[in-house]
Amino acid sequence: MAKDQSTLRDHHGWLRQTMLPALLALIVLLIGGVYLDLQNTTLARERAQARVLAELALIRAKVEGNITANIQLVRGLVSTISTEQTTMTPERFAALASRLFEEQSQLRSVALAPDLVVTTTYPLAGNEGAIGLNYLTNPAQRGAALLARDTGRLVLAGPVDLVQGGRGFIGRFPVFTDSPDGRQFWGLVSAVVDMDALYADSDLTNPALGVDVSLAVAGGMTPFFGRDLSDEEPVTAEVSLPHGTWIIAAVPKGGWAAATGDNWLFRLAIAAAGILILVPIVITGCLMGERNRHFRAVKRREADLTRVTRRLDLALGISRIGVWEMDAVTKDLVWDDRMNQLYGLATDGGPRSYLDWRQALHADDLAQAEDDFARGIATGRYESTFRSVHGDGTVRHLRSIGAVYSDPDCNPRILGINWDVTTDVELNLELKQATATTQARNAELETARVRIEHNALHDSLTGLPNRRYLDEILQGLAGRGFGADQSIALLHIDLDRFKQINDTLGHAAGDAMLIHASAVLRAKCRDGDFVARIGGDEFVVLTTANDSQEDLAALAARIVRRMRQPVPYEGHECRFGVSIGIARGCVSTLEGRQLLINADIALYRAKARGRNCYEFFSEALQAEVINTKRVADEILSGLERDEFVAYYQPQFDAQTHDLVGVEALARWRHPTEGIKTPDSFIPVAEELNVMATIDRLILEQALADLARWDGMGLGVPRASVNVSLRRLHDEELITSLRKLDIAPGRVSFELVESIYLDDGDDIVSWNIEQIKELGIDVEIDDFGTGYASIVSLQKLHPTRLKIDRQLIMPILTDPAQRRLLTSIIDIGKAMGIEVVAEGVETMEHAAILRDLGCDILQGYAFARPLNPADLEVFLSAQSWRKAS
Ligand code: C2E
Ligand code: CA
Ligand code: CA
Repeated sequence: MAKDQSTLRDHHGWLRQTMLPALLALIVLLIGGVYLDLQNTTLARERAQARVLAELALIRAKVEGNITANIQLVRGLVSTISTEQTTMTPERFAALASRLFEEQSQLRSVALAPDLVVTTTYPLAGNEGAIGLNYLTNPAQRGAALLARDTGRLVLAGPVDLVQGGRGFIGRFPVFTDSPDGRQFWGLVSAVVDMDALYADSDLTNPALGVDVSLAVAGGMTPFFGRDLSDEEPVTAEVSLPHGTWIIAAVPKGGWAAATGDNWLFRLAIAAAGILILVPIVITGCLMGERNRHFRAVKRREADLTRVTRRLDLALGISRIGVWEMDAVTKDLVWDDRMNQLYGLATDGGPRSYLDWRQALHADDLAQAEDDFARGIATGRYESTFRSVHGDGTVRHLRSIGAVYSDPDCNPRILGINWDVTTDVELNLELKQATATTQARNAELETARVRIEHNALHDSLTGLPNRRYLDEILQGLAGRGFGADQSIALLHIDLDRFKQINDTLGHAAGDAMLIHASAVLRAKCRDGDFVARIGGDEFVVLTTANDSQEDLAALAARIVRRMRQPVPYEGHECRFGVSIGIARGCVSTLEGRQLLINADIALYRAKARGRNCYEFFSEALQAEVINTKRVADEILSGLERDEFVAYYQPQFDAQTHDLVGVEALARWRHPTEGIKTPDSFIPVAEELNVMATIDRLILEQALADLARWDGMGLGVPRASVNVSLRRLHDEELITSLRKLDIAPGRVSFELVESIYLDDGDDIVSWNIEQIKELGIDVEIDDFGTGYASIVSLQKLHPTRLKIDRQLIMPILTDPAQRRLLTSIIDIGKAMGIEVVAEGVETMEHAAILRDLGCDILQGYAFARPLNPADLEVFLSAQSWRKAS
């Protein structure tokens, strides 16, 4: 598009430059030519006019001369007649006239007309018709005749049609006679001049005449001779005649145009001359245009080149690329400024050589760089990277590329560029170092990872695999080289009495025991067995052998036996034992975790059975566990739904049967199974660790009920609640009791005998002291089933002791049993402790117990445990009194 426009512009320019001078020249030439042509025409016209004038002058002279001559001839005759009028005879006239006609003239006839009537004519022959013509009566000739008579002068008329035929000029000469009376008009002498003769003699009709001539009377319009030339720019002259003037006019024969002659040749010559001038101008114009176009094209190209060069310069400048060129033969180098800067040389534009380049190179790179260069020349493409060393020692990494090219008539040359790649190289180096560092660090990390993984999977103390490792093993049993059908067994081993050793001899001793135990296990197991420590004092042996139950039992027994042997530690003989739960399974059917759970169940059972034994997992065991689990879930939801409530069994004074208190007993109002007694939930609740919660609930209910009964005036003096061992261990027990704001003597805590026998626990002793401080009575429950010593009884000093119902029941029949009771009662009395009997089923029992000295009685004989409503009815009705 732009190109089209520029072409168009060029074209217009060309036209302007080429054609304008030519056009101007053409105009000038045309004007000149026309002017020359006009000049030429004018000259020719003037020449023609001169020619015509000359000829006209001749003719005029002839006409004038001929007429004058004819008049002169007649004048002589007239004067003769004037004198001889009276004597004039026709003969005389004929004689005179004949003389006239002897002269060379154009006279045709002469007539005499005395008194204006023609009487005589000479020659007569041919003119007879004129005789007798009266001018006065002839209208055509009367005017002229009278004019001649009246003026007395010659009147020339004509040409007129003659009476005697033909045309001619008639000259009428008046003739006067002198008489005494004066001058008398005599008549006229008429002379007829032959028109044709006159014309011929005057050369008017001469065919050789070069001009067309016309004659006209001056002032008259239509010429009487020749055609009307008035429109043809005639040349004129006057012919002076007696009485009048004729105008003689002439134009060249064929018109002026013919007379001026044909000037086409002249014009042709001018045209030729014009063309001769114009053609070179046009050619020059064309050439100029062409030249200008080329000039513009060159200019444009120059501008393009400048632009490209500027861009290239900018690009090279910004990218700091140096350009070099070398003559492959002479090794002369041309370097631009940037090249010199790259090599740390002066930017003086001075000549460089291959040697200069060589010298600027780093010694270590020289050989390679030269190799590259030689190869570049050989192959035509050069590419190399090397270092250059500047004068100040700076080292730069340069990259050079080039290509060989050759122009005709020139040595082959290499043209190339160089640029600084130091930053890239350094970056590369840094990257490489960073990569190396990273790799080293990765290796370290890998080592650390392996170590950490080992640590993560092993127990630091014994070096055995840990719980996590076991979990992984169990999770991926199938993938760990255990065949699908292979039977495996897991022994879960728990150290007994380990806590005591830890507590009494310190952790170092405990650690020593653990190390010992792990050594024993490793020694007793086979190499392929997996032995792990999975908790404080728990170990696991995973054995893959397809051992029979007997083999496994033997292994477990060996372990138990070996572990029971005392371990010497810093002069002490440390003893501990183990309980083992064993689970077996098939890799394909059993999940690893399940195996551990099963073994755990078995272990639990083993521990329950007593220490230092082992137990196999079985389906029955599992069913039990499942049931326990169900019950546990129900207990938890029962707690949420307040299904645990207090029933009350009253207690009476043995002597008076007055109500002395009630024992609160927990009941579970099961949503489907009805009221359940403690034996059905206490073991599970204890396992669940919610027994303390239940105790608290029952205490709270008892307190609430007590208050209500006080309000009702039922007179319940005291409520006893059972307190589980776990609750006594609770450090927060006292705090929570304080909040309940219990009135002294209204509440009694029943503690099982075993509490203060087994436990030397400080918190328990402290709690008991605090309970007493709070004004809560402390009773020993189920007295007689445990091993309470007199010393511990003294130490604890309870308010009451409650003899277990197993000791009460036989008293009706067994005297020895009665003696045992007597002793217990005596001890109580001695120590100031009240004695309560529970399980009093009959009034017989009641009577005996009263007699034995028991203070308080509780049992079915009086009342079963009752719900609060029933109890209230029972108490209001005093029902027991009727029974007793
Ligand atoms: P315990 O403290 O010895 O409670 C007395 C148990 O003897 C009660 O059984 C009661 O129903 C029963 N009993 C009362 N009189 C007679 C009788 O004349 N003959 C017979 N054969 N039995 C009689 P229960 O209510 O099933 O309680 C069983 C045990 O559960 C209680 O023994 C007590 O140790 C425990 N227990 C009950 N409630 C609680 C409680 O709230 N907290 C705690 N920690 N233990 C409780
Ligand atoms: Ca009790
Ligand atoms: Ca009891």
